[in-house]
Parts: sequence; structure tokens; C-alpha cells
Amino acid sequence: MFFTRLRETAQRFMLAPMGGGSTLNIANVSGIPVGLHYSWFLLLALVTWSLATQFYPALYRGWSGPQYWATALAAALLLFASVLAHEFAHSIVARRRGIEVQGITLFLLGGISQLKAEPRTAWEELSIASVGPATSLVLAGLFWLALQPLSISYSPLQGILVYLSVVNLLLGLFNLIPAYPMDGGRIFRSIVWAISGSFRLATTIAGWGGQLFGLAFVAWGMFRVLQGNAGGLLLVLVGLFLFAAAAASSRRREAAEAEDPPLVSSAMCAEPLVAPPDMPVGDAVHRRLLPSGRRALFVCEGSRLVGELNGADAASVPTALWQAVPVRNAMRPLPLPSVRPDDNLWDAVDLLATLQDGELAVVDGERLVGSLSTSDALRSIRSDRSATGAR
Ligand SMILES: [Zn+2]
Repeated sequence: MFFTRLRETAQRFMLAPMGGGSTLNIANVSGIPVGLHYSWFLLLALVTWSLATQFYPALYRGWSGPQYWATALAAALLLFASVLAHEFAHSIVARRRGIEVQGITLFLLGGISQLKAEPRTAWEELSIASVGPATSLVLAGLFWLALQPLSISYSPLQGILVYLSVVNLLLGLFNLIPAYPMDGGRIFRSIVWAISGSFRLATTIAGWGGQLFGLAFVAWGMFRVLQGNAGGLLLVLVGLFLFAAAAASSRRREAAEAEDPPLVSSAMCAEPLVAPPDMPVGDAVHRRLLPSGRRALFVCEGSRLVGELNGADAASVPTALWQAVPVRNAMRPLPLPSVRPDDNLWDAVDLLATLQDGELAVVDGERLVGSLSTSDALRSIRSDRSATGAR
């Protein structure tokens, strides 16, 4: 498939800065490591070059050559300080909400905050995502305010402030484009999440949106390159990056789901073998337990679990009395080892291994909703494996 190949290639080349390789660690700000991917130096050179040869000569005539270059370099470095402020805003809010931050990386296309976990609620996602663009917009306003007393001076300081207020405004607005995993896409995801109540659905929709936006950026960038505008190349790269990152995040989600432990409910026998407390032991054994092939039966009053009876329990009553003694007097009463339907199946298997001979009651409160034997668990693992193999 063309799309699969494109996705894999884009991921291999575009997501390298997120892997942690080829990165210089330059600082550690209150426990958050800041790294520079080598590709960032290319971006620094590009930004400085375009400021020194195009932006500043067009705005300010008559500076000396070194003045253009020094102003351009200072403006470019302050741009990256602004990007770091944006990323720190994400990281600080995430950490305050209990999500660990792996680090911040600057690379060819800007900055990335790497969080160790996904947000747990839509509100958490919304606050972590929106604080970044908000920081950029506030910075734009502050630089613009600082510019006011200088507005007629035509100095390099003014040139730097002009650039920073414009570029922070653009950063804030660009990040609000709803292309996951950009901030706007995360805000979009949190809204879908809040409305639908499903993180999965929200991630799927936002992930597809991000891939579409990515491809649209690539197409738009190529169009501009064909028109002779070399700046389109950066747009192609941004598009490829978005496409790769959006695809990777939906793949990560699928992988995380595959690792989700199976639940007791997926393996249990939903029609457990039961007997009323006043049934004679003989009837319970001959009519229920033996024909069923199961290892134990559960004694219930209505749907309420009151005890369990296996072969050994029945054998403790002399055979001659089997028709005279009710199950109530031979059963093991509560508390019985039990699990709930949404418990981890592996934990239940561990518990089963500690039982001499019997089954686990699957209960919902006092109500018996199923039973689990070792063979139920094995059967479910086998069918799971064949389902995976067939894919
Ligand atoms: Zn951001």
C-alpha cells in the first residue's frame, strides 16, 4: 500500500528527533531536560540567514553588514527562547497535573514537549494543550507593548522586538490549527473527547484529521515550490512531520490497546452451574455437577451467592445420607474466593492456581454473574491466539 509505505518512511525520517538520538542536552531546568537535535542548528542558520539578508534589509535601510547579521542572530536566538517558553508552559502544566515530562527538544521544525503519559481527562488535555499557544500570544502582546516607546527609533533593538512580536503571534496562531498532534489538534481532540466521552474515538478522529492536514500541507508546500518559492519546502517538511506524528500516535494507541490485559469477563462462563440451598446433595451431584463436567457448583438464593460445592465437599457427607442432607449443610459458605468481571484475567488465573479444586465465583456485588475455571481461562487464551494469527 502506498499510504503504509509513505507513513513508514515519513516516520523513520521525521520522528527521529523524538527518539532522543542525535540530541545535545544543553540544560536541565527544574528537572526538565532541554535538548537540541542537530537539525535545529540548520533551522537556526536558515532563520538567521533570512533575517539578515531579507527581513531586516527590507525594513531597515542603512545598517552595516555586521549590524544586520548580529541583529538577525539575536532575534533568531530570542525566537528559540520564545519557543522554549511555549514548551515550558506545556510541561509545567502537565507536571502540575501529575504527568511526568521526559524533556523538551528543539529541532528543525520547532519545539516538542515529550510527556510520559497521555492526559487522563479531556479537561487535562485541554489545559495542557492550550497553555502553549496562550503563552505565545501573551509574549507577542508583551513584545508589542515593549515596542511602543521605541516606535520611531529604527534601532536594532526595535528590529528585534518587531520580529519577536510578529513571530510569537504567528506561532500562537499556527499552533491553533486543528491538526493533531499540534496544539490545536489536541484542543480539538479534548473537545471531541468531552462531547463523546470516548478518548479512543477522539484520538482516532483527531489522528485522521492530523494526517489529512499533514498531506494538505505537503501538497500546498509542493505547489509553492513549483511556483518557485523555496519557502514551500519547509511547509512540505512540516506536513510530513504532522502526517508521521499523527500516524504514529494512532499506532501507539493501537499497540497500547493490544497490551491491555484480558478481563475475566472475556473468559468466564456466563451461565454458571448453580443449585438452591435446599436441594439434596445427591441431586446436586448426580443431576447438576456430574453431567456438567465442571469442577464445582455455586449455591445461590435467587441470584445471590451463598456458597460453593465441589466433589470433595459432597464426599464429606456419607453417601447414604446424600438424599437427606441439603446442599446448605455440605457447602463451603461465604466468604469464597471471588473475582469481578472487569478484573485482570491473569490475576484471576493466579488466584485459581491457589485453589485445591474448584472454580472462582465471578460476582457483581453479592450477585453471581459467572464462574471461572482453569480450562475457561485456557480456552480464552487459545482463541485469542488464533484470532491474532489470522490477522
Ligand atoms: Zn505547543
